[in-house]
Amino acid sequence: MEDKNHNSTSAAVISEPDIQILTSGGLRIPAHSSILAMVSPVLENIIESRAKRVIPILGVPCDAVSAFVEYLYNSRCTEEQMEKYGIQLLVLSHVYLVPRLKQRCSRGVSERLTVENVVDVLQLARLCDAPDLYLKCLKQVATRFKSVEQTEGWNFMQDHDPWLQLQILRFINEAESRKKRMRRHKKEQSLYLQLSDGIECLEHICREGCTTVRPCNVEPAKRPSPCHKHNTCEGVQMLIKHFALCKRRANGFGCSRCKRMWQLLRLHSSVCDHPDSCRVPLCRQFKLKAQHHELGDDAKWKLLEKKVSSAKAMSSLSLPKRKREEELRDAVGSTAQALKTFRLC
Ligand SMILES: [Zn+2]
Ligand SMILES: [Zn+2]
Ligand SMILES: [Zn+2]
Repeated sequence: MEDKNHNSTSAAVISEPDIQILTSGGLRIPAHSSILAMVSPVLENIIESRAKRVIPILGVPCDAVSAFVEYLYNSRCTEEQMEKYGIQLLVLSHVYLVPRLKQRCSRGVSERLTVENVVDVLQLARLCDAPDLYLKCLKQVATRFKSVEQTEGWNFMQDHDPWLQLQILRFINEAESRKKRMRRHKKEQSLYLQLSDGIECLEHICREGCTTVRPCNVEPAKRPSPCHKHNTCEGVQMLIKHFALCKRRANGFGCSRCKRMWQLLRLHSSVCDHPDSCRVPLCRQFKLKAQHHELGDDAKWKLLEKKVSSAKAMSSLSLPKRKREEELRDAVGSTAQALKTFRLC
């Protein structure tokens, strides 16, 4: 070892090297047994149990062994060494129990995963008991499966370790269904959020009015400007206008848009906490009927009410208001769409 490597270690290094490490290329690296024993308990055992002062570290390129010994002295590993010998250093750190180097390699190797090497690294990570790296590999295989499937590594594993392959396939499967569940959940949340916004618009239209619809007792503003939930509000206003004029409803025929309006009114009533002063039509009537269980579907409405409230709470907790507005604008369809999708029967 050169002197520069000794700087960061203890006074034990003052002495001459008293041991040699033999590599597979025949290279002998002089070293201090006290240093090696201090950093690696496995080397400590070997040193204590051997009369001979030569420790063979074979099976990896000698430059990798040099990098390993260098790390034992100065706890450092360059990017270049990581690039060239990251995998070998991972194995050495595992075999000789050097946890900090193992962590470093686990990270270093995971940053350098490719379609070509990911299956080999995955197997290695399992052998070396490196769970972080193992998981990272699994995820890589899952996201780039079409390409990974074509590699030699994958084919080799197919022949030699079908059990591991099964495990990987199972992981991919679970990841897929996890993603699907997440997508479904997001879609539902956005629907409930739209409903919640629909209710909010309904309330503000009934209280002070918006661009084209306002309560009879409210004077029209000179130039009514759209509110900040413009799109949703527009949809609700159209629904209200339709509800007021619909001939099919008046003639006693079922009308799906009227039914939607009806549902929105009922949903408002079920979340409204001041029915006595509320300006939304039928709010109090719905409340009374619900108290006497005259509306039917109680359980369904309770659940819906809960989901709408929690979607609302979640969104106001997790996103700043402006962001939420943007997300809403991007969300699938308008409130009219949400109301269309919203079916209880
Ligand atoms: Zn409005
Ligand atoms: Zn109608
Ligand atoms: Zn109300």
